[in-house]
Amino acid sequence: MKYLEIFNSYKHSEKIAYICGENSVTYKELMLYSDRLAKYILQNCGVGNKDAISVYGHKDFLMLVSFIACTKSGHPYCPMDISFTKNRVEDVLDIINSKFSIFTEDLVVDEKFNILNRKNILDIIYDDKYDNISDEGLYEIDSEDIAYIIFTSGSTGKPKGVQITYDNLNNYIRWIHNVVGNEKNKVYLNQAPFSFDLSVMDLYLSLYSESTLFAITKENQQDFSSLYENLKKSNVTNWVSTPSFADMCLSMREFSCENIKDIEYFLFCGEVLTKKTAKRLRERFPNAKIINTYGPTESTVCVTDILVTDEVIEKFGVIPLGKTKNGTIIEIREDDKVLADGEVGEIVIIGDTVSSGYYKNSVQTEKSFFITENNIRGYKTGDLGYFKDGNLFFSNRKDFQIKLNGYRIELGDIESNLLNIEGVISCCALPNYDSDNKVKSITAVVVSNNVVNEKEYVKFLKEELQKYVPSYMVPKKFKFLEKLPMNNNGKIDRKELKKILESK
Ligand code: AMP
Repeated sequence: MKYLEIFNSYKHSEKIAYICGENSVTYKELMLYSDRLAKYILQNCGVGNKDAISVYGHKDFLMLVSFIACTKSGHPYCPMDISFTKNRVEDVLDIINSKFSIFTEDLVVDEKFNILNRKNILDIIYDDKYDNISDEGLYEIDSEDIAYIIFTSGSTGKPKGVQITYDNLNNYIRWIHNVVGNEKNKVYLNQAPFSFDLSVMDLYLSLYSESTLFAITKENQQDFSSLYENLKKSNVTNWVSTPSFADMCLSMREFSCENIKDIEYFLFCGEVLTKKTAKRLRERFPNAKIINTYGPTESTVCVTDILVTDEVIEKFGVIPLGKTKNGTIIEIREDDKVLADGEVGEIVIIGDTVSSGYYKNSVQTEKSFFITENNIRGYKTGDLGYFKDGNLFFSNRKDFQIKLNGYRIELGDIESNLLNIEGVISCCALPNYDSDNKVKSITAVVVSNNVVNEKEYVKFLKEELQKYVPSYMVPKKFKFLEKLPMNNNGKIDRKELKKILESK
């Protein structure tokens, strides 16, 4: 059965599907409200129309109602979190260019965009007139139709929309559900915003297994006592987060199985899981299973998994990414040649969860995606890695994409947006690493003709940049130079630049 049919089979269930603070919804309500909103969408866009719809907001139950309503009416949804700047929201709205967008939180955008606001949505979902109108077009979604589009940082300064098909998502859910033992009636933790594909793991696993999704807001995550209180009352059994978030929780002494008693699984994805983090979790939660998974948004969340036991932690120098999921082949390549076990090359994913490409962006799609002779989609990840004893390992990146606290950032995205700011002549964003080789911050090196007072100018640059990129992309430190070192190809010599900074 496909996931929409499974969700629908819970339409009489009084179980809580989603809870976030005071905000909650049962399965029965979720299915009823999303039916009503789907019928509204069908009425307004017409049966057979499959244009994407942007959904803006944070952790409100209306986000879930909107996502499911879009799918039920055959429209891809495009989640945008409140961490997006107004400019980025407008960039996405421009690219998506739909008849209307759904905003579950207030944000004033250009008048040219037609917005269905919170009040409009509530009026629709609480109106029973929709129950009696025709359901023509409802649940008409084909395998290759797009289920969602998630935007990620793009090196040119504009975000790229990854399109995930209905079957991509179905294939992914069936596999990941098996990884956690096919069990029903669990409590999943939702840490990541819905605009980050890690949230697809908890959201869909939870709904698929008639479990409860317990969400913690951005605000809760910034305040330790509120975070702890929430975790304690959540009764979470299946934890889904970035390793960085687990590290943050581990800095609270109370974060242990004596206080947070029900955790059975820690599921990680999105960045390196260090041995240090895994060991600390094993100490604090000896009965919980830790699963490391790996994958890019372009192949529906993740494509490998491994159970991180004490033995695994001891045996390997770094924690493996694990074995490839069924329905997928991973090759390690260099210049299209497939490398042998142990050799480091680019990780290439071929299989049934590979996206159909970037939305309205054939240039980037052709660069990274391909079709095999057997008509299966493939994606060149830009990650460097190798296989050893059937396990995949991560080495590094080929390019200038980094992960900071789980967020995927193209350094070029920061640089392109910095270059648009008054006075910036040239610039370079450099990641700073900690002893575990994880990025801990970003430094921007700027050449400018506008620096009178350095402190004031840094403040100005941060404020300006924050209008265009999410706050997690704003460099922590700024350094100024008269010129940037160049290599023979006329590109910025990052190694030399690092040396210059270190010598200062
Ligand atoms: P995203 O599309 O945001 O999920 O980011 C995908 C990228 O995150 C991958 O291409 C890797 O560079 C990195 N990544 C994801 N999972 C892991 C992991 N378990 N270990 C190391 N890096 C990871």
